[in-house]
Amino acid sequence: MAAAGIPVIDAPLVSVGGGIGSFVLADVLRVSGMGASSMKVLGQADRPWDTYNYLASVSQIPEAERLRSDSMAGPDNLWGFPSLAVREAFGAKSLSGFIAPLFQVLTEPIFTDFYTPKAGQIYEGMQREADRIGWWPMVDRGQVRTIRRREGGGYYTILTPPAGTSPTKRIAYRSQHVHAAVGYPGVKFLPDLQAYREKHQDFSRVVNAYEPHEHVYQELRRKPGTIIVRGSGIVGARILQRLIDDHDHHGAQTTIIHLFRNYVDGPQGDSIFFRRPGGDGFNYQAFNFPKAACGGQIKTKMEGMNGEERKAIIRVMGGTNTPKRKLWQEQLSRGRTEGFYKTHIGQVEEVYPSGSNTVVTRIRTAEGMLEVDANFIVDATGLEADISEHRVLKDLLDHAGAGRNAVGRLDTENSFEVRGTRSGEGRLYASGSITLGGHYPCVDSFLGLQYAALQIADDLARQGFVKKLGPARSISQWWKWALNKKVAA
Ligand SMILES: Cc1cc2nc3c(=O)[nH]c(=O)nc-3n(C[C@H](O)[C@H](O)[C@H](O)COP(=O)(O)OP(=O)(O)OC[C@H]3O[C@@H](n4cnc5c(N)ncnc54)[C@H](O)[C@@H]3O)c2cc1C
Repeated sequence: MAAAGIPVIDAPLVSVGGGIGSFVLADVLRVSGMGASSMKVLGQADRPWDTYNYLASVSQIPEAERLRSDSMAGPDNLWGFPSLAVREAFGAKSLSGFIAPLFQVLTEPIFTDFYTPKAGQIYEGMQREADRIGWWPMVDRGQVRTIRRREGGGYYTILTPPAGTSPTKRIAYRSQHVHAAVGYPGVKFLPDLQAYREKHQDFSRVVNAYEPHEHVYQELRRKPGTIIVRGSGIVGARILQRLIDDHDHHGAQTTIIHLFRNYVDGPQGDSIFFRRPGGDGFNYQAFNFPKAACGGQIKTKMEGMNGEERKAIIRVMGGTNTPKRKLWQEQLSRGRTEGFYKTHIGQVEEVYPSGSNTVVTRIRTAEGMLEVDANFIVDATGLEADISEHRVLKDLLDHAGAGRNAVGRLDTENSFEVRGTRSGEGRLYASGSITLGGHYPCVDSFLGLQYAALQIADDLARQGFVKKLGPARSISQWWKWALNKKVAA
């Protein structure tokens, strides 16, 4: 590398990604006593919440909207105390703003929907915590190309810095340990919609919920039109809310056609002890996974399962589901009565352009073929492409000894170490959605990222990298957190 003119930077631990997963690990390790110079974070975004904020905003969760995690899951507070509901109450500017979150969290989910924080509250908290732990100098910007094992143990991580910021095109980071938290490998499209977009080069009428598509709402506000929504998960529900909000507050005359491939019309599950409610096409579940899977008896059970058993239970508990929120129930029921929200069930056979600047969807239904002409189609079915579509992950699979678990993601130990990638004393860890299928199902959530970070920190502590976070330090660090005292460099 020296001969090739590639500078080599030494850092005991490198975290690849720089998003919420990297941030949460840095937070846990800094709170545990790791010096800021012991970890380098490599990522493309300016702020750890930027990618999340982007995906949330385009999929209709702007800062003022509420997320889908509970009151204790704040990426800026690993203790979960005080809860986000209490923090929202004490930050409120009115009496009703003070009472509402407390009332909701005390009566959830019986009398009210589950309390969930606003997106903006999460970003503000992370900004404060990033300043407190000295996050900003830990980050080097750029795109990571590869993570490779070194002959002498540990790893090399190769980064391409942004153009004009470095005299060389590549920088190598030599570290004992590496952590990969690269988020979603890529956006996934429904094959028929992808085929349409490619064949007709139409990226404006057929859009994915995870790409910018504000023009859709703007045009539908300007003139009456029809939109097909495909997907019945949380993102589909958000899109429906946005369309009905525009109908209610901006006079949009939009006919919404909601297309279901599998229509859920009642509770799902074989046992009365293990089932979830469903109806009107939706599987209802407050969070991605039941709470017991993130920190209760299902979590404990899963730790003892093999890969295939885990895959089966993840399929039953996960899959497409959405919370049964009172607002959404009211909006959709009004839409059905007033006729601006209609549902169809079937298999899409073809999508093609009509002569009049609209798109036709041919659907095979139980009653025969149906053709629906729409101004727009929104694909709200999913985000997660195969892990091999991510260059760094593909390289790990091809060259670094990483393997797949039964779900097809990275195979990890309970400590979140990626199996097969150990290099001398060095360990490669991963967290986030790329590890789904291991012993812990809630990996793709704030809580799951914190859980993974704690497991990784414990494993690093066993190797003497950092002190184990014990009760005395945890309490004293919580006080520092509460008083917003900076963590020592
Ligand atoms: C729309 C949406 C809403 C969600 N809502 C919630 C919620 O309400 N509650 C909850 O608990 N969870 C939620 N999640 C799930 C999860 O908590 C977030 O996706 C979270 O951001 C995952 O953190 P991460 O670090 O894995 O990925 P990210 O935060 O996306 O960070 C990954 C980072 O890696 C970078 N990266 C990727 N490849 C490279 C490379 N080669 N080189 C350099 N950098 C790279 C990316 O640019 C990105 O910045 C939501 C997810 C989405 C998409």
